[in-house]
Amino acid sequence: MEEMNELFYREPYTREFEAEVIRCDKGRKYWEVVLDDTAFYPEGGGQPADHGMIGDVPVIDVHRKGDEILHYTEGPVEAGTKVRCVIDWDRRFDHMQNHSGEHIVSGLIHRTYGYENVGFHMGDLVQIDFDGPLTWEQVRDIERRANAVIWENIPVQELFPDEEELQDIDYRSKKELQGKVRIIQISGADTCACCGTHVHRTGEIGLIRLLHVIRHKSGVRIDMVSGKRALQYDEAVFDQNHEISVALSAPETATADAVKGILNQNVQKGRRFNDLAMKYFEAVLKTAPENEKVSVIFCDGLDRTAMRKGVNTLLQEKNASAAAVLSLEDSGYAYVILSHQADLRKCTKALNERLQGRGGGNAEMIQGTFQASAEEIETAVKEVLTGLF
Ligand SMILES: [Zn+2]
Repeated sequence: MEEMNELFYREPYTREFEAEVIRCDKGRKYWEVVLDDTAFYPEGGGQPADHGMIGDVPVIDVHRKGDEILHYTEGPVEAGTKVRCVIDWDRRFDHMQNHSGEHIVSGLIHRTYGYENVGFHMGDLVQIDFDGPLTWEQVRDIERRANAVIWENIPVQELFPDEEELQDIDYRSKKELQGKVRIIQISGADTCACCGTHVHRTGEIGLIRLLHVIRHKSGVRIDMVSGKRALQYDEAVFDQNHEISVALSAPETATADAVKGILNQNVQKGRRFNDLAMKYFEAVLKTAPENEKVSVIFCDGLDRTAMRKGVNTLLQEKNASAAAVLSLEDSGYAYVILSHQADLRKCTKALNERLQGRGGGNAEMIQGTFQASAEEIETAVKEVLTGLF
């Protein structure tokens, strides 16, 4: 591990500082600035880099390269000068809340189930992977206990044990560590080797929310958020639930049952609607004229199965040479056309062109949608199909 002597380690709550520019070189995309000391945290250990300003140029990214910390900036700063630096504190404090929150959760899971944290990524959500299975109930239990650690407002301690002391400490670590090791300890919850920045006391995390658990490799992946991000997430979910509650006149703690009730009603209504549409369609088919060369019937509310039955009926019972059934949908008129006497593939292109249609099929049956009025469709279908015989 590195020397861990930079300003962001010595005083992690530094928001503004003055530093000397050691050098500033034009890189491939950005300028690369090295300072004599820095409070800008470089990406590492799963924690993203700090943003902010060096003088009047924005800092886009920060990386550790060998012994140096490179600040990638949008413009140059003069080497040898002293510059005022400002950390984007909202971003950094969010990282601290979420990193400390992650330690508590990983530590509690490790203590309770013996699983290791085998992956950690801070994006919009914080993702943590573990090498063993967890149920949603177990995850919920961990969330409750993690929030209890927040209420205790205990210190997040930073330890630099020597090699002998380190042997007596039971700590989580992704790799075998040598040299100076930094241990982050949250009494009763976690002890872990870490190079990130943390809050001073657990109370500053405010809130931990474990959002999803999915199976991942031989274990699970948990999405979580802490601090202000957790509050914002809760607000968004609360607002959605509140709207559902008002719309359905249901208590906020019983919206799921209300929604399920409505979905169930919808299924029932859909079935009743289909029954009625079919009865109506059968009546329409009965009154269709007989012995027409091209029989064209419009009836709304039909699915494709009903439409295919309809064209068969028109051919068999009404003795039509070709039959078309059309039903209005959101995207236009759905059509099914059937004939055993002509090759319908020959007319697909003409019909689709005249009626802005899509679809096709085989020699005997074509189906798709037309974007035209009922009158236009009836005229075009009769003209084009009559031409086939
Ligand atoms: Zn860490």
